[in-house]
Amino acid sequence: MSKVSPTTGSSTMTPEQVDFAARFANYEIVLKVSTKRICAPERNDDGTWFLPGCVLTINTRIEQIIVTASDGLDAVGLERIRVAVENFCAGRAWCAAFDKLKIRIDSSDGSEVFQTGWLGWTSDTKWLDRDGWRVTACTDDRCAETWHEYDDTTELGTPMVIHRSDTIKHLAGYELAMVRETAGPWKVEVEVASNELDVFVARSLCNDISWLAIECEKLNATEAVAA
Ligand SMILES: [Zn+2]
Repeated sequence: MSKVSPTTGSSTMTPEQVDFAARFANYEIVLKVSTKRICAPERNDDGTWFLPGCVLTINTRIEQIIVTASDGLDAVGLERIRVAVENFCAGRAWCAAFDKLKIRIDSSDGSEVFQTGWLGWTSDTKWLDRDGWRVTACTDDRCAETWHEYDDTTELGTPMVIHRSDTIKHLAGYELAMVRETAGPWKVEVEVASNELDVFVARSLCNDISWLAIECEKLNATEAVAA
C-alpha cells in the first residue's frame, strides 16, 4: 500500500511527469464513492498518521480517470483531490502522488490501467479537524446520482441525503424532479421561473406534475422505502 500525500501542492512536476500527464489531458474525470470506508487511519513510522481518502485509477481503454473516494470522506477532501487530478491532467504543478502510480496491463484487451494505492493525507492527528459535509455512496436504484454529500445522519446513523430520480426541464422555465429524502417517500420537486405562465405552458406543467406524481405513487406503493 503506497502512502502518498497530495498536500505538496507547490511542488513542480519533472519533464517526465509532465509528458506522462499529457497523455491524459482529455480524459474524463469521474468521481465515485465506495460503499465502504476505504481503510482506517494508519500510524506512520515517524509517529504521524496516514489518513486514506481515495483510490485513483487511470483506465486508457475508456479514457477515464476514476477517483473512488472512501465512504465518509469529507467533501472538502474530495474537492481537493478533484482539483489535484485536474491540475495533473493540465500538466500544472503537482503532484508527487502520481509518482506512485502502478501500471497494470489488462490482458483481455491489452489496455493499460494505472492505479494508486490509497491516496490520502499525512497528519499529526488521527482525525482531520474538519466539520461539515461528507460523501457517501448512493444505494437507491432509482436515484440518478451515484453519491451524495450529507451533513447530518438519522438516529440510526444513516446519512441524510436527497435522492433524485426522473427530471423534466421545460424550455419555458420550469423544472420538475422526483426527489426523496433518506427513508422518506418520493415527492415531486417543482421549480418555476415565473409566476405568470402562458396557458399552454401552464397546461404542460400540470400534465408533467401529474405524471411525476403518479410515478412517485407507484414507487411509494410498491417499494419498501429503504433508509
Ligand atoms: Zn441517491
